[in-house]
Amino acid sequence: SAPLLQVEGAKKVFKTGSRLNKTYIHAVNGVSFTVHAGETLGIVGESGCGKSTVGRLILRLTELTEGEIRYEGMSLSKMKPKELRKFRRQLQCVFQDPYASLNPRMSVGKAIAEPMVVHDKISWKEALKKAEELLVTVGLGREAAALYPHEFSGGQRQRIAIARALALNPKLIVADEAVSALDVSIQAQIVNLLSDLQHRTNVSYLFISHNLSIVRHISDRVAVMYLGRIVELADKDSLYDTPQHPYTQALLSSVPEPEVDSARERILLTGEVPNAAHPPSGCAFHPRCPYVQDRCRAEEPVLKEVGKGHYASCHFIENHLSN
Ligand code: SF4
Ligand code: MG
Repeated sequence: SAPLLQVEGAKKVFKTGSRLNKTYIHAVNGVSFTVHAGETLGIVGESGCGKSTVGRLILRLTELTEGEIRYEGMSLSKMKPKELRKFRRQLQCVFQDPYASLNPRMSVGKAIAEPMVVHDKISWKEALKKAEELLVTVGLGREAAALYPHEFSGGQRQRIAIARALALNPKLIVADEAVSALDVSIQAQIVNLLSDLQHRTNVSYLFISHNLSIVRHISDRVAVMYLGRIVELADKDSLYDTPQHPYTQALLSSVPEPEVDSARERILLTGEVPNAAHPPSGCAFHPRCPYVQDRCRAEEPVLKEVGKGHYASCHFIENHLSN
């Protein structure tokens, strides 16, 4: 069956600078991936790699410069208003700061009920009843409905944001750094809640995060982004156990967890992510890559299949396989 979401050659170019001295930033530079029903695709990378822009493109918070995004096989750019409305309600988001997305003067019950009143045209009474049920679903009690956002902790507020996202029975939730602001123990609770909801509703997640451990926990497949491109994409175990791209290997080397990296040689990630306005020639990772050779500076590698369902873009994968 067609994937729920298909991103094909997506590009986003931002223009900055003055009229006479324009700078073009290729925030997303030809990204393709799919998300299937009931699946979680994790997107990882350092800040500035374009992962949030990918999420914003799918949410249509910013327009594509080039490429195509299909939802249930249909191109977003060709959707009629009715199809777009359906798409909008089936696609929800959860961001890092739930406080920013909740109206401080609106009770939590009303905040969750509101989208149902607007989109489902049901009465406030009925919507508020459903809101209470959703608050139970996300592990808060019915009593929470009468309270206001400031009366909750950060973790509880993120549960409220998730309840609100669930109100319209979405098929896909884009979660961008959704647990990053929370304490580690709370992060695990929220991630477990998301997994549990997925089992119950078959909702898909695009889970964007810089935190490799969290992404490993929740994802089925993982895409690693660097300077606007996917440099590696694989199912979770394959990516974490046998990373092929030097950037992925370096990211995993920096995870302070014994389980992630035992036998593998550690690669130290030095230097900053280069400025996307002036990307390095050839392989954009070459200034930081321990395996760099002349060809890397001249020629850009393409994403190719290096194992079953495992894709990586590097000229010399065969030469530095980890074992
Ligand atoms: Fe490193 Fe060259 Fe591979 Fe880029 S193409 S990751 S610079 S070895
Ligand atoms: Mg971001």
